Amino acid sequence: METFPATMPASLAPATAQATVALAQPVLQLQNLYKIYKEGDIETVALREARLTVQPGEFVAITGRSGAGKSTLLSLIGGLATPNAGRVVIDGTDIARLSEGERAAFRREQIGIVYQADNLISFLTAQENVMAPLQLARRKDARRRAQELLAEVGLAQRMQHRPAMLSGGERQRVAIAVALANEPALLLADELTGELDSATADKVMALLATLNASHKLTLVVVTHNKLVAARAHRQVLIADGQLFEQAAAHG
Ligand code: ADP
Ligand code: MG
Repeated sequence: METFPATMPASLAPATAQATVALAQPVLQLQNLYKIYKEGDIETVALREARLTVQPGEFVAITGRSGAGKSTLLSLIGGLATPNAGRVVIDGTDIARLSEGERAAFRREQIGIVYQADNLISFLTAQENVMAPLQLARRKDARRRAQELLAEVGLAQRMQHRPAMLSGGERQRVAIAVALANEPALLLADELTGELDSATADKVMALLATLNASHKLTLVVVTHNKLVAARAHRQVLIADGQLFEQAAAHG
């Protein structure tokens, strides 16, 4: 086998699959993010110099104790809050440069968000909840796509149920289907298993892992639960508002 001198510039080395991955545009880039909350004289630096790059198809868990800045980070990534400094770049778009209207449209089309507290519409059935974002996006196949998504999250038999008639785990599955409706580039989840028992939480995480593997769905999941985090490919710790890459988990 041919060997290359150690001094050979990387640019001349043969292209490998690895190099191709490295050249792909990241789905998410956080550049030196700061978020400071001011209440009267009190300043809380919730994020400082936060940096993160997420490539297409990655499954990243962000862990950290309560108050570490996890929800703040997710609200900045989701465009629901703006940083005091730094950039959030999603699929090459710096979301701070968008107008409020453009940002709302961008969020609707590019980002799916699943929260712990379920945000399903109580008077709509599971199917109607999933159809709502599809109809907003004026998709003609809303009904068929909603049915496919609900089947994919294991709720083919529950499509005509309203949220109150579903279990907590089933409601989270509907919420995941809603978040996936418009094929987001990025799915964000904030402590989505926080109110579930551990067996149900693990099933919801297993579902996310399956969606990640089968659709190359890019996932950023925030959790204080180590078992939930262990399902991810990559773990990033947030402490005192800073992000620290953790050693790779075993297979
Ligand atoms: P986590 O989700 O990891 O529990 P948060 O992002 O909610 O952490 O909070 C990070 C820090 O910022 C905490 O000290 C919290 O008290 C503070 N914080 C969060 N939201 C606000 C707010 N709206 N106003 C003032 N301080 C806030
Ligand atoms: Mg939180």
